Amino acid sequence: MNTRKDSYKHQGQRAQLVKLLNTNKINDKNVLMAMANVPRHLFLSKDFEDRAYDDVALPIDEDQTISQPYTVAFQTQTLEIKPGDKVLEIGTGSGYQAAVLADMGADVYSVERIEKLHKQAKVILSQLYKNVKLFLSDGTMGLPDKAPFDKIIVTAAAPKIPETLLAQLKPGGMAIIPIGDLKLQKMILIKKSVENIITQKELGDFRFVPLIGKDGWQKN
Ligand code: SAH
Repeated sequence: MNTRKDSYKHQGQRAQLVKLLNTNKINDKNVLMAMANVPRHLFLSKDFEDRAYDDVALPIDEDQTISQPYTVAFQTQTLEIKPGDKVLEIGTGSGYQAAVLADMGADVYSVERIEKLHKQAKVILSQLYKNVKLFLSDGTMGLPDKAPFDKIIVTAAAPKIPETLLAQLKPGGMAIIPIGDLKLQKMILIKKSVENIITQKELGDFRFVPLIGKDGWQKN
């Protein structure tokens, strides 16, 4: 049971972080409001609590990372999240990105392949939001039983676009996926038109931990 609390100090630190994001082209008010609301320190171990509101990625268990706040804000803003959107996230990790989506009123389905992280995220997210469902499976296969989705967000680096995921996107939907090698990736925004036509746009360089699975990197 997580008994740690939010505090005025943390709220002040979040307000500073939001200001910084705003100077960095994050201007969707709903994204900024969610970043001001979600207690990122609760998704980290106590050792990293002091750095929770620095704009940096930080280690979580199992050699994984919680994404940099800027990256979370950027992916979320690009997807134009609206209340009621049915969103598939691949790579629950700490659960922080899922919390930001849930705070914005999305209906979140988040998949993680590592059981320990899945369970930890469940403990904290179940205390904060009702509109998040967590799944333990290979996210490169998506969630066929829950498809289709309005939006898909992948928070681990893929070698190529996982076609299975695109098939689970609604016509008129959007997906955002970092694609590249293990060192550096391009953020790719994919749109599926109402006529089912796929278009792609490159949105700059990012660095993520690998997406490991059937349609991702193979574990060695
Ligand atoms: N969104 C997370 C970022 C976590 S890092 C956060 O806010 O903290 C990426 C996560 O993707 C890791 O936890 C990793 O275990 C997970 N992952 C990698 N390959 C996966 C796959 N095939 N299916 C589901 N999760 C995967």
